[in-house]
Amino acid sequence: MAYQKLNGSDRISEWKLKDLMCDIGRRIWLKGFCAGNEGNHSYRLSEDRILCTPTGISKGQLKPDDLCVVDLEGKQVSGKRARTSEILMHLFIYKNRPDVRAVIHSHPPHATAFAVSGLELPTCIHPEAEVFLGRVPMAKYVTPGDTRLGETLAPFVKDANTVLLGNHGAVCFDKDLESAYYKLEIVDAYARILLLAKQLGYVQTLSPVEMNELLALKSKFGMTDARVTPDGKIHGLTCGSDFLARVGGEVATKGRMCVGGGTGPVESKQPSAMEKAVEALTPENYGEQDIEQLVQVITDQIMATAQ
Ligand SMILES: [Zn+2]
Repeated sequence: MAYQKLNGSDRISEWKLKDLMCDIGRRIWLKGFCAGNEGNHSYRLSEDRILCTPTGISKGQLKPDDLCVVDLEGKQVSGKRARTSEILMHLFIYKNRPDVRAVIHSHPPHATAFAVSGLELPTCIHPEAEVFLGRVPMAKYVTPGDTRLGETLAPFVKDANTVLLGNHGAVCFDKDLESAYYKLEIVDAYARILLLAKQLGYVQTLSPVEMNELLALKSKFGMTDARVTPDGKIHGLTCGSDFLARVGGEVATKGRMCVGGGTGPVESKQPSAMEKAVEALTPENYGEQDIEQLVQVITDQIMATAQ
């Protein structure tokens, strides 16, 4: 796939692009996706010119004049401020994905929580995440700032559009800035939903039939997914995950994906109030009959106080 030049109505003036870059920065900052001077984003102006954010500035404070232009090796071509040090990761993506025109790297807290725990985002749960993100892989941690960060994306760059960076953050890439930004919003919203669902103690997974239907719909819209072959066949769909294994303890083994017919609430392993009361009052050498008698006494007392 060769790099495609924009022409006619697709072409946006550099001034307008700089304005859009600042607007995206404000939206990232307002959403709380980056603290201090964290994060960076870029746009491919032409085959070998990339517009990018500078280092050392809040993404909420960007002005068009602050932006820089670099070549595909990261050499700064214009701009009074120094380019972001993480541009090398962006360049790795541009070099490997001629269809990509925008890259956004940020540290959205909920998605970054998964990156910090080393837990991949699970699949087969939320239609929005399946359609707009697909599988979100996790790149291994490296010290940010040099070419190694980009190289950690090598196994995933061809198939993914959103990658979690181990112990670091997230990177999203797409055909334009707006679409890349939406991916950033969606990955953090999805991670947040999962964390809230974990607090509720139960996560329902989509069944294989529901997943097949969803991926078929995605193909119909012309959206590619590494789990769907060009002729529309679904392959390599695995829905188990470390995250699911941690939710409520039993969801991973009793979930719908495993038994097919749906599940009821996870059985309580906690002793009832009566069992606790009996245990507390029973001397060790009591027989079963004595316990029955004791239960009767407690029940009678409860009934008496209730009247
Ligand atoms: Zn970073």
